[in-house]
Amino acid sequence: MLTPMKADIRHDWSLEEIRELHDLPLLELVFRAATVHRQYHDPREMQVCKLISIKTGACPEDCAYCAQSSRYSTGISPERMLEKEAVLGLAARAKASGVSRVCLGAAWREVKDNGQFDRVVDMVKGVTDLGLEVCCTLGMLNETQARRLEEAGLYAYNHNVDSSAEFYETIITTRTYADRLNTIENVRKTKVTVCSGGIIGLGEQVSDRLKMLQTLVAVQPHPESVPINILSQVEGTPLAGQKEVPVWDVIRMIATARILMPASDVRLTAGRARLSATEQALCFLAGANSIFSSETEYMLTPAVPSPSYDADAELLKILGLVARAPFDNPNAPRAGELANRVPTVESCAVSA
Ligand code: SAM
Ligand code: SF4
Repeated sequence: MLTPMKADIRHDWSLEEIRELHDLPLLELVFRAATVHRQYHDPREMQVCKLISIKTGACPEDCAYCAQSSRYSTGISPERMLEKEAVLGLAARAKASGVSRVCLGAAWREVKDNGQFDRVVDMVKGVTDLGLEVCCTLGMLNETQARRLEEAGLYAYNHNVDSSAEFYETIITTRTYADRLNTIENVRKTKVTVCSGGIIGLGEQVSDRLKMLQTLVAVQPHPESVPINILSQVEGTPLAGQKEVPVWDVIRMIATARILMPASDVRLTAGRARLSATEQALCFLAGANSIFSSETEYMLTPAVPSPSYDADAELLKILGLVARAPFDNPNAPRAGELANRVPTVESCAVSA
């Protein structure tokens, strides 16, 4: 069966349909995903992003994968919030290295209306003024806080669903799945785009991965960016010592996400440092069109490695890819196009 002329943007994929796609013979799945990718994206373009940890460590939550939880001894020591000038310096160097999106991450459970949030809003304004897309990943957010970030020029807000609703409860107990969907809903009430995805390699079943994709597909419009993390195992966390995810599982997740959410940026995120150039090339062929890169060779903390700007520039050159310019995403929603429709935990369970 040939791939339909232009892959539809759908929100009603059944789990059976997703399973049928995901379990296709691998190269057929990659071919279909690559075909869909070309219908919505310039296949030569790669969005290069940079994570900046503006507040590191001492997080009260118990996310079983996380280096920054105060519940686990991972060797990551708490740090004070970065000064705005330091953030702007990192952002300017990132832009000079081809980065188009800077993501400000805080080891917080939620945003609090205090002086630290005022400083984050100021950072968002400053990095936006550098001509970069700014994303924040600060934990849970209410609507008023989402509006403040929107007024400051925030481009995207990251809040991952991480896994299926059922499996999620086995890895995080301090924040519910409904809390996560609620934050996504609050962001959706603004013009800020949604970045939401999850992690594979947590010990989940394939069905959990497919249910996670089904949750993401039910968000209307689809999250504008979908990070697919591979568990980056951190010594001292409960999930250290897991069996590593085979690269074929990563490629299947990327390709399936691409076909389900054709217009979204699919980002190959944590765990990419573990993949060879050839394995990454297959992920890009399967529709991953966004990566995190770094001058420090790690993501938010030294516990989670990341390829460097130089290594990525070399890889993109070998593969004939170019870094996408800021605000140059042809699929980004225009103002007013956002429909506020986010699934509820009940609806996730129902469509399972
Ligand atoms: N504290 C904020 C929160 O939890 O919403 C944002 C920071 S957290 C780094 C953002 C996401 O990174 C998590 O939701 C998770 O999906 C991913 N992540 C964190 N640690 C990871 C790891 N060791 N391996 C893979 N993904 C990870
Ligand atoms: Fe805290 Fe976020 Fe890490 Fe969870 S993922 S422990 S909320 S920093």
